[in-house]
Amino acid sequence: MTIISHRINGQKTGSGDSTPVFNPATGEESARVWSGGAAQIDAAVKAAAAAFPAWAATIPSKRAKVMYEMRRLMGANADALARAISAEHGKMRADALGEVARGLEVVEFACGIAHLLKGAYSPGVSAGMDSYDQRQPLGVVAGITPFNFPAMVPLWMMPMALACGNAFILKPSERAPSAPNLLHDLWLEAGLPPGVLNVVHGGKAAVDAILDHPGIAAVSFVGSTPIAEYVYTRGCAAGKRVQALGGAKNHLVVMPDADLDQAADALMGAGYGSAGERCMAVSVAVPVGEKTAEALVARLKPRVAALKVGPATDASAEMGPLVTAAHRDKVSHYIDAGMREGATLVVDGRGLKLQGYENGFWLGGTLLDHVTPDMTVYKDEIFGPVLSVVRADSYERAVALINAHPFANGTAIFTRDGDVARDFCERIQVGMVGVNVPIPVPVGTHSFGGWKSSVFGGHGVYGPEGVHFYTRLKTVTARWPTGLRGGAQFHFSAR
Ligand code: NAD
Repeated sequence: MTIISHRINGQKTGSGDSTPVFNPATGEESARVWSGGAAQIDAAVKAAAAAFPAWAATIPSKRAKVMYEMRRLMGANADALARAISAEHGKMRADALGEVARGLEVVEFACGIAHLLKGAYSPGVSAGMDSYDQRQPLGVVAGITPFNFPAMVPLWMMPMALACGNAFILKPSERAPSAPNLLHDLWLEAGLPPGVLNVVHGGKAAVDAILDHPGIAAVSFVGSTPIAEYVYTRGCAAGKRVQALGGAKNHLVVMPDADLDQAADALMGAGYGSAGERCMAVSVAVPVGEKTAEALVARLKPRVAALKVGPATDASAEMGPLVTAAHRDKVSHYIDAGMREGATLVVDGRGLKLQGYENGFWLGGTLLDHVTPDMTVYKDEIFGPVLSVVRADSYERAVALINAHPFANGTAIFTRDGDVARDFCERIQVGMVGVNVPIPVPVGTHSFGGWKSSVFGGHGVYGPEGVHFYTRLKTVTARWPTGLRGGAQFHFSAR
């Protein structure tokens, strides 16, 4: 059986323990992946630290050339990347290609790095004195990523960190390790010197080694909230700069004046696309008013029941399997809990079997109505194809509901009323907001990040926030010879 290797200093390596990688559609173990720990992280840090000075000294426009070439190579290899993603995650080919395209946006943004690293310049801040900013790389930085976007989330980090002049170590999810390796190989083909980028596979041992290693200056994490909090706390305690993005419970408000067919379409895609395994998936629909709720549920019910579930190789399927059997069972147990706690099960996706794929990790689309804020299905992130309907009797109640939830990654409102939409954008306590857009993932020129328990640390990822996270600000104040005369000064001078 293939054992998927680390990439350290441009070399494929691996030894010791390994963990299984599954094809979620068949339930078969398709490969194993080496499980790195302190020794592999230390080797990666040594390689990265040795490669860093030359890479940091490479002028930004030359670093940008690598970005341009990576952009071309990703276009040429989009199919291979999508196949690797679908084989280990289970998502549909179109969805996997979409993920590659969203990752590519960040590479494209990083092509403009020379412009993005420009600092502010203030001539004549005092007699004969000028002041200017420099943004310098941090050194060796690391990224820890989740299973659900094996290419896109690493690409939220790598292009930004590398274009800014850092050396980067990626610790991808052990459940979907192939696409990250493929990305590494493409970066090297694009001209990145060996050692500037390293990939170490594994689980907790590798993560802890990153958090404790004194040679790593900063850590970007994307994953579930408990692990995000752990990574943030331990990484900060070790003196690192840390950004840690966590889980979500995204609400979509449907106002009485909304186009209900459009809202139902949006909920189908945002609730069940990628089997709900997206941090920006909509997992709660909030229709305002009983009439809106009845009409919305009537539209959703037949469509959820008819959702076509299948393997990524079936072009007619709309939704794939869940990532592991354990995760499928966990989501199933949430549905049990919802029923026990009094929700109405409108469509039940449990127990789904597919002919020819009897051992796949399947769960059909599920719709729960009359969900209330005290229920477990409302409080927890489920991360599966389960949409809960929480009925609100007014717009104010809908806003209060969302603002009271600890998760605050994304949210959306569907309405034709500009005043209501504007008020929603102003008052809602959530990091990314959509107006008639169900999944408001910011484009590559903006930055991504939630609020409250959906993020720990002060920066969003990619875009301008990514440049700030991966660089340190230095401000130079310079005086030239004519201003040097005048003797020692022992106080701040008034300008
Ligand atoms: P996860 O938290 O289980 O794993 C994320 C990373 O942490 C992986 O690399 C994993 O190996 C590592 N890890 C797991 N357990 C650990 C432990 N005990 N100690 C140290 N490291 C550990 O998340 P996942 O299941 O891979 O991904 C799904 C989660 O990620 C969901 O909660 C989803 O909302 C979240 N997510 C968030 C965003 C965002 O931008 N906010 C984006 C994608 C996914």
